[in-house]
Amino acid sequence: NIRSGPDISFDKIGQVNLGERYLVMEEENGWLKINFTGESAGWVSDRYVGRLQEEQTGAQDEPKPKKEIIVTGNQVNVRSGPDTSFSKIDSLGKGVRLPLILHENGWYQVELSSGNIGWIADWLAEPVSAQEAPPDSEPPALGTEKSTVIATPSTLNVRSGPSLDAERIGAVTQGTRMSLVSRSGDWYQVEMADKRKGWVAGWLVQFPGTALSSWKYQPSQVAVIQRVGESKEVRHYLAGKTIVVDPGHGSIQPGGWTDPGAIGSGGLWESDAVLEIGKKLRNLLEKEDARVIMTRTGDTNLSLEGRARVANEISADVFVSIHANSSPGSSINGTSTYFYAPLGSELGSQREMRKKLAECVQEKLLQYAGRANLGVREENFAVLRSTTVPSILVETAFISHPEEEMLLRDTEFRNKLALGIMEGLAQYFQDTR
Ligand SMILES: [Zn+2]
Repeated sequence: NIRSGPDISFDKIGQVNLGERYLVMEEENGWLKINFTGESAGWVSDRYVGRLQEEQTGAQDEPKPKKEIIVTGNQVNVRSGPDTSFSKIDSLGKGVRLPLILHENGWYQVELSSGNIGWIADWLAEPVSAQEAPPDSEPPALGTEKSTVIATPSTLNVRSGPSLDAERIGAVTQGTRMSLVSRSGDWYQVEMADKRKGWVAGWLVQFPGTALSSWKYQPSQVAVIQRVGESKEVRHYLAGKTIVVDPGHGSIQPGGWTDPGAIGSGGLWESDAVLEIGKKLRNLLEKEDARVIMTRTGDTNLSLEGRARVANEISADVFVSIHANSSPGSSINGTSTYFYAPLGSELGSQREMRKKLAECVQEKLLQYAGRANLGVREENFAVLRSTTVPSILVETAFISHPEEEMLLRDTEFRNKLALGIMEGLAQYFQDTR
């Protein structure tokens, strides 16, 4: 998935496929900004991409390019980079003339009528000087030097059709030359030495005289999509689960006042911060088709036992209480997750599940929010003692620590905490399925 920002909380704005290559424009927190349509940019997690490893060897000598090219092929694809594995950004008919920017390694970089920059394979266009009338040229015939492809990986699979799902009918070694028979999308039909025909992936071959290693771009600037949908696989275990989210405090007291929880030196109320985190968590979980019940969405009359009963009465899959920690010293900081299941008690039979739940959420909270690890702990908290379903209490960060109080006010940090809890729950449901 490609998102509008460097975080899984941002909207999906597109998708990329295995093997595609994109130029990296920017990097941030493990996310890469790529030009995935050639016009707009999106972000992809670096967990799904690799980088080209080829060393840059310097550009080859090229004759001075002329000022314009004329398209000689029919329906020629314009791509976002100088290789058939870059995304298609436009398509041009035969005879179209375009200003030429540079000619490199078998590709023309051209200026499109939209003002955007694109790349066209040079065997599908001819240079013309701006004054000349367009020559009546034809694309090179099959069987010429231009229609030879060379295998680039150490072993290149040859398949029965133009798809990774097609049956493997053979393989050739690096450097093997094969004649090009036809094309389908990014796949080439080739003839092997034994005269059998098969299909090879276009991004795994090159043409004579071209080399990835002399691209205009540093290889490290090119992201190669290596995995797709992995994170989604974990998160889909949330679908259909019933999750009670309990933002701590905010209970209306007998005297009519509301329990704020701990209050930071900057004036932040724990009850306010954890309510916002809880709402974000609900939104994320609902996006994954989980059923979410909040114990409160404002102030509440529920007691601690009453909050636990919300989960007990509907036999929820899990109960998650969200808090911010506090300590008399202002230097203590970090994240911890609590469970309660003493051996020998009625809850003892859930010990492994409750501990597992706490461990999964703690691990993902550390990964997403990045605060110090105060560990998984066991404590006899009322909501943990009173729940009959697996339950945890998350102490997200210390409101008594000035820096963490500031973070707890911050929308982005709240997002990260919600994401961490969600990913931890998904991991728990996957591990206990
Ligand atoms: Zn609290």
